[in-house]
Amino acid sequence: MTSANSHHGDIVALDRRHVWHPYTQEQVAPEPIPIVSGQGALLYDSAGRSYLDLISSWWVTTHGHAHPVVAAAIARQAQQLEQVIFAGMTHEPAVQLATRLTSRLPAGLTRVFYSDDGSTAVEVALKMACQYWINRGEPRNRFLAFEGGYHGDTVGAMSAGRSSGFFDAFQSMMFQVDTLPFPETWIDDETVEQKEQQSMAALNRYLTEQGKNCAAVIVEPLVQGAAGMRMCRPEFLRCLAATLKAHNVLLIFDEVMTGFGRTGALFACHKAGVTPDIICLSKGLTSGFLPLSVTICQESIYAAFLASGFDHALAHGHSFTANPIGCAAALASLELFDRDNCMARLVMIERLHRERLADLARHDKAHRWRVMGTIAALDIRTDTTGYHSEVGPRLKRFFLERGLLIRPLGNVIYLLPPYCITESELHRGWNGIEEALNRITANAN
Ligand SMILES: *Cc1c(COP(=O)(O)O)cnc(C)c1O
Repeated sequence: MTSANSHHGDIVALDRRHVWHPYTQEQVAPEPIPIVSGQGALLYDSAGRSYLDLISSWWVTTHGHAHPVVAAAIARQAQQLEQVIFAGMTHEPAVQLATRLTSRLPAGLTRVFYSDDGSTAVEVALKMACQYWINRGEPRNRFLAFEGGYHGDTVGAMSAGRSSGFFDAFQSMMFQVDTLPFPETWIDDETVEQKEQQSMAALNRYLTEQGKNCAAVIVEPLVQGAAGMRMCRPEFLRCLAATLKAHNVLLIFDEVMTGFGRTGALFACHKAGVTPDIICLSKGLTSGFLPLSVTICQESIYAAFLASGFDHALAHGHSFTANPIGCAAALASLELFDRDNCMARLVMIERLHRERLADLARHDKAHRWRVMGTIAALDIRTDTTGYHSEVGPRLKRFFLERGLLIRPLGNVIYLLPPYCITESELHRGWNGIEEALNRITANAN
């Protein structure tokens, strides 16, 4: 036994004794793998094994692990100013980041509110929408979300995502949120228009009854992530936005996952051709280096919070609001989109996804093949669908044994790679999926 291996064992033993992992049934979960380093699309464990990260480590790693440009920006900022209170003070990294983000977003999205993660970005958006109507003297107490939508794990975000099925234990803590059917679609789907019409009809009925009470609609634009990479068409989002505008209801885009290139455009709102009233960004913001998020709104929303008294102000803030090191990482990450052919690499990833899907689409073990930019997904045909499907954990083990980090969402297999991934690495991922379809599912069900 090498010393690296015994160190590996020590870390796992201590982890088992003291650590509690997220979204994990600790009694039956396999031992966690101690990762010691990362480089590009690869992760290395303490026994020297490598794993190709095909899910960008829970959808956050955009330009690759340990990217030297982001790492250097963090080191520089840490030595200059690591943190400062963000009420009554400001700093250049936060101001620069707000300026550059708003210049990259559709015109009209002008005001940046900082927080720490996707869930808090959503909480801020919901609170902004709620108080916007109060400050205008027309309080509204209802929100509308899409079935299956996921918006984070804090109580407001859980409420918006209560139909995701993750939060049954917390029903009594949540507030009421109404839902609409999400018109999910896939390649060669012949029923998409019908599904979109049904969603729009449900929306119109709802607005007729509740429009005056509805503060905002929240949606994951183009791709519902945690629901299983469920995709909708840009046309639907344009229809949704136009209808909400006509009824004077705010539209919140939760781009926590879809932001920063995931859908092939820098933001899904570009690809959809829609300017929401409020947008939430987090996962890819710092290229996966540090937790940071932003909630960006239109100037008219910000203006509703201006008054001589504090009661109109937004009473929300976090200890680490606009942490300068996080902002420096985000600035470096944003610059990388303009370098090293980044946008062309997004095109390469989508093209390769489509090629491999076209090749595999004949496979009778899977269906609902779909691609949106750098995200590709398919559903395994099993008796048990959804997040708790039996097939998910078995497939995850199968992939890990081959050095591939692919983490199915129930019976949904998806790839969501960092943008630095090479063509041959991405082919390795697809080869793994092809092998899984041929072998594992031969005795599934
Ligand atoms: C992950 C996610 C969140 C929550 O973000 P956290 O950083 O995990 O709190 C919110 N919305 C969407 C669409 C997400 O994918």
